Amino acid sequence: MKGGLYSWGRYPDCPQMAHRPAWPDELAGMLEKAGASKGSSLPYGNGRSYGDSCLADSGHVLAMTGLNRIVAVDWERGVLRAESGILLADILACALPRGWFLPVVPGTRFVTLGGAIANDVHGKNHHRRGTFGCHVTALGLLRNGEEVVCSPEREPELFAATVGGLGLSGVILWAELRLMPVGSDRIEVLTQRFGSLSEFFALSAEYDERHEYAVAWVDCVARRGGVGRGVAFWGDHAAAGRARAGGAARGASWEMPWTPPVSLVNRWSVAAFNLAYWHRHPAGRERSETGVEPFFFPLDGIGSWNRIYGRKGFQQFQCVVPEASAEMAVGAVLEEVGRSRAGSFLAVLKRCGGMRSPGWLSFPMQGTSLALDFARNPELEGLLGRLDRIVHEAGGRLYPAKDAHMSGADFRAAYPGWEKLEALRDPGLMSRFWRRVLG
Ligand SMILES: Cc1cc2nc3c(=O)[nH]c(=O)nc-3n(C[C@H](O)[C@H](O)[C@H](O)COP(=O)(O)OP(=O)(O)OC[C@H]3O[C@@H](n4cnc5c(N)ncnc54)[C@H](O)[C@@H]3O)c2cc1C
Repeated sequence: MKGGLYSWGRYPDCPQMAHRPAWPDELAGMLEKAGASKGSSLPYGNGRSYGDSCLADSGHVLAMTGLNRIVAVDWERGVLRAESGILLADILACALPRGWFLPVVPGTRFVTLGGAIANDVHGKNHHRRGTFGCHVTALGLLRNGEEVVCSPEREPELFAATVGGLGLSGVILWAELRLMPVGSDRIEVLTQRFGSLSEFFALSAEYDERHEYAVAWVDCVARRGGVGRGVAFWGDHAAAGRARAGGAARGASWEMPWTPPVSLVNRWSVAAFNLAYWHRHPAGRERSETGVEPFFFPLDGIGSWNRIYGRKGFQQFQCVVPEASAEMAVGAVLEEVGRSRAGSFLAVLKRCGGMRSPGWLSFPMQGTSLALDFARNPELEGLLGRLDRIVHEAGGRLYPAKDAHMSGADFRAAYPGWEKLEALRDPGLMSRFWRRVLG
């Protein structure tokens, strides 16, 4: 389908027909029409989910980015209410110059408010502030043709079903959230290389709690003694400095102009990138200061970077494993990836904290999360199957927002809340992901 919408990994190759409401009162009619003619539909934010969770089973989505107005804001208290199609980039553009920041941001600012809630996204400060849903105070949900207002106190079951609810409990019309006060848009960064996973875990135990943000890059192609080496970053908002609309710069500075026939990411390009990235960082501890974009959203600088993986697209594998088995399981995953020589230059390691999310199907758990990107090729399925087994045996789980392959059995075992969500699902909404994992 020409001009159809995809997910970020461009896999599965199922272009979606977009129906675009400009005003909230158009939605009920659109949902009814889609239900009558196609059986079901699904809200679609900005398509930054990698796999099939943002793709409708029917191939017809409600593209929400036209509903992007700020409805009310109290700059004294830092409370903002906006329509669900607004991008986090636009919220930051208004909030940052006034000394407010989003309490949780994912690795791209080009996601919608509705998408951030439906996947209950997490950021580099999960150990301190939990998930996005922890900061949502209320939301308006269109389900079965009617608007229901829910919050942790009002309709709490619907609220719990909607936060991390993968767009299935209803269409989020608007949401209200608490912002976080910041002194400036500058980030003070502490950087430290580590030579092994044990070193990473020791550093993380010592430093994470002292800093608002903590994340690490890990070299997943290094072999023989180099397995588990990487670079750890900690960050804090600088107390004072400029407060400009920097976090919101809309355009990318460079755009990947076309989709090559084959992936430009392969074992040789990844090996060269990883070696250069490792050596770019000094062996000792380093302090520096940077802006919001390079610290939180480094990939947003390259528009359509997902095209570098070629026409077959790519898949992300993101798991979280509980604390007790984390070092062993992450090590086993890295060994397996190293053996396969699949390579991933985007390899992000992050310790998650213990703050509970209000959502039934939220992904993070106290433990360690590892995210890896892989170009699609004939060997990938086998590798993913082996990685799934390691995660399953360690008591961990995969992130539905990034997933296009996990088995129904693994999903149901890892997310026992699925039955409660299924019971509250709006029957007019169905995704390819939900169909796949529930069979
Ligand atoms: C470079 C990059 C970095 C990322 N980093 C992180 C990270 O650090 N942490 C993290 O958690 N995630 C991360 N992600 C994933 C991304 O944050 C999530 O997939 C996010 O939910 C995408 O939001 P979206 O607006 O693009 O929604 P989509 O991907 O279009 O949809 C996501 C889900 O939200 C539902 N939805 C969308 N709008 C509504 C609505 N109005 N009402 C109800 N349901 C709705 C959809 O049905 C779907 O189930 C990253 C993605 C990229 C590309």
